[in-house]
Amino acid sequence: MHPFPSGFLWGAATSAYQVEGSPLADGAGPSIWHRFSHTPGRTAGGDTGDVACDHYRRWKDDVRLMADLGLGAYRFSIAWGRVLPAGRGRVNERGLDFYSRLVDALLEHGIRPSVTLYHWDLPAALDDRGGWLNPDVAGWFADYARVVFDRLDDRVTTWTTLNEPWVSSEIGYLAGDHAPGHRVLHEAPIAAHNLMRAHRAAVEAYRAGGRHEIGVVVNLEPKYPATDDPADVRAAGRATAYMNSRYLDPLLLGRYPEELPAIFGDAWPRFDENEVAALAVPIDFVGVNYYTRQVVRDDPSDVPVGVARVRQPRHAHTERDWEVWPKALTDVLVWVTERYGPIPIHVTENGAAFYDPPTADGGRVRDPLRVAYFRDHLRAVHRAMELGADVRAYYAWSLFDNFEWSFGYGKRFGIVHVDFETQERTPKDSALYYAEVIRSNAVE
Ligand code: BGC
Repeated sequence: MHPFPSGFLWGAATSAYQVEGSPLADGAGPSIWHRFSHTPGRTAGGDTGDVACDHYRRWKDDVRLMADLGLGAYRFSIAWGRVLPAGRGRVNERGLDFYSRLVDALLEHGIRPSVTLYHWDLPAALDDRGGWLNPDVAGWFADYARVVFDRLDDRVTTWTTLNEPWVSSEIGYLAGDHAPGHRVLHEAPIAAHNLMRAHRAAVEAYRAGGRHEIGVVVNLEPKYPATDDPADVRAAGRATAYMNSRYLDPLLLGRYPEELPAIFGDAWPRFDENEVAALAVPIDFVGVNYYTRQVVRDDPSDVPVGVARVRQPRHAHTERDWEVWPKALTDVLVWVTERYGPIPIHVTENGAAFYDPPTADGGRVRDPLRVAYFRDHLRAVHRAMELGADVRAYYAWSLFDNFEWSFGYGKRFGIVHVDFETQERTPKDSALYYAEVIRSNAVE
């Protein structure tokens, strides 16, 4: 048995647009994801978050289900447009009330709320003003954050500003597969910079009156060179700078990785050094989302990084074609600890999409691959802690099968199965396995 320290927090995670449904209910304003998913051709099968897991209406039952599983924490995000329908200005109390009631219900069941302020659903009205490309977005975000802190910080003790800003800037503004769907190399570094300015402004707003802890969540995907050819080794270094230190270096060390200007070439703005240094406001923890690693080689034809993935055909892969490689989770937690100094870490997402049938016939969903994924990754977390990583919490992604962004409902990540015809919830074998981990505070 691998015991975890007492007080280790076991949770599960979701995000607003992926589970709530009813995106325009009670006076909410549309988000960029509402627009994007309603644009033909943007999501698999034209799927949208209009209904999703209907969590906006079923939240009470959902909290009871979390309690049945023994969850100690629930990580969810707040939809900015429910709180401020136009993104700024008028506050919509009914939107705030929803989250306030949810927080109360969680606490009544002994579940700690862990709240993310931004999980990709920018109010569409702000996108009309340039979205993350407009420098004013930092102030808009801080104003929104203040409204939420004022209402919930008496009960919410764990906050994160942004979820995976790398995905917002690179997939939203460069690859175009996420909202707002731009494909402009020159925009990605600007969006990324403004995301970090927004983070900074929100943390500063929190320090002015907040009583608990605040951090940021990044997606980290360790890069390993396919060979020891120096060109491949350099390629892995570029890929690491582009994805993994891209946000953490500015936010924790106050500087951009030195590889970035060469990677972006003409598209790299001349950032003011003092402003970059000022991005590094102290935070209380780093949230790490980990799913997979990548083995890479040099490939000059790739824009902008010059790197190609080398698929490992003999290894297991998930339904997203992500290689299952638990050791990289140990490596990345140790890397964060060594590069950024001892800092508390929350594993804020970890999980896998595997094929599960649409209905849970006989009331059971057998998902042995997901059970194995969790077991092996939890061992990897345990190993990282033995090696010195200060990991305080772990959240399974996801509590529910849900709207997997441009993949729609086709990719199931849940530990709880959702029948999207009936909205029936069925804990999968992986949920039962996880409940036992939580109960024993250990991984076998
Ligand atoms: C995101 C989730 C997403 C998951 C699986 C992360 O990138 O934070 O919203 O569903 O990974 O792709």
